Amino acid sequence: MPLQFEVRDHQQLTDQSRLDEILSNPGFGDHFSEHMAGATWTKDAGWHDARIERYGNLSFTPGSAVFHYAQEIFEGLKAYRRSDGSIWLFRPEANGERMMRSAERLALPPLPTEDFVASIVDLVKVDQRWVPGGAEQSLYLRPFTIAHEVFLGVRAAQTASYHVIASPVGGYFKGGVSTVDIWVSLDSSRAGAGGTGAAKCGGNYAASLQATNEAYAQGCSQVLFLDATDRTHIDELGGMNFFVVTNDAQLVTPELTGNILPGITRDSILRLAPDLGLQPVERRLALDEVLSGIEDGTITEAFACGTAAVVTPIRSLKVQDRVHTLQEQADSWSLKIRRQLVDIQYGRADDPYGWTVRVC
Ligand code: PLP
Repeated sequence: MPLQFEVRDHQQLTDQSRLDEILSNPGFGDHFSEHMAGATWTKDAGWHDARIERYGNLSFTPGSAVFHYAQEIFEGLKAYRRSDGSIWLFRPEANGERMMRSAERLALPPLPTEDFVASIVDLVKVDQRWVPGGAEQSLYLRPFTIAHEVFLGVRAAQTASYHVIASPVGGYFKGGVSTVDIWVSLDSSRAGAGGTGAAKCGGNYAASLQATNEAYAQGCSQVLFLDATDRTHIDELGGMNFFVVTNDAQLVTPELTGNILPGITRDSILRLAPDLGLQPVERRLALDEVLSGIEDGTITEAFACGTAAVVTPIRSLKVQDRVHTLQEQADSWSLKIRRQLVDIQYGRADDPYGWTVRVC
């Protein structure tokens, strides 16, 4: 039986002028909407108590498993307001399916995809006035499941809870898309063979933060991680997948090895590519090949992609003290891909792929 998310509280406490002020400059994850979705899982009863309730503190005892063994998974997707005022999601089932795979890897109870999508749709309907309507603004949705059984033994918890919170967010880039400088980490890994790299679990991000601090110290804004086995091939960034474009119109991204998060933006770009005139290629991608390609001009562009920033063009890769800079392209593939994806998300371009889902 699919879950029904009971709306327990539908009051709007934020007055319109305060909401307008928040939505005029929402930032990213600085404000949260008035409600959240929730559901509880126990070994005996399965998923139950599905609800939309007031956004507020969660109460867990300090002995809850999540605080000790990081048995936690999450997702990230957006609700987009179109120029006619309607609100849409982009491939929410893909997030739901990925969350089920993450749950399996982290020994958490998977929430069926239809319940995942229902939680998102119902929350967005209740908090629809929190979906901003400005250029590239959206309501960012953050579903997560945590183990909350109070038990210090190391085993899969037998109680868990699922929540979805929502945060109005602005365009990732202020004043037009800008390029980023990337630090290539030669000695720190995000994920290793047989580990949790393909799952969206908090621990992967905790493991990436030391290298992120290193990147900042190097004057870069993100880290590119290599495969943990030989440190010769590119995996992905701390929070985005990686692509290069070659001078013969190939769009190359590291194949999914089990250590890389299967990004929904990555998958969408691979499917869009042939329609834009690029040949998509998924294969192992050596760091040396990328660096020499940048130097000899066979690689013309590199970009990172993910839900938050869609496509972020890369200006340079820094390896130890050497900076490898890509030439700026006048009408770049990166920006063409970005525009096409954003136009589909906001309903300005046709969606022959059936990716967009209307909420209200
Ligand atoms: N890789 C990592 C490690 C991420 O955290 C994300 C963001 O969610 C991505 C890739 C891109 O995934 P998606 O396109 O589904 O947002």
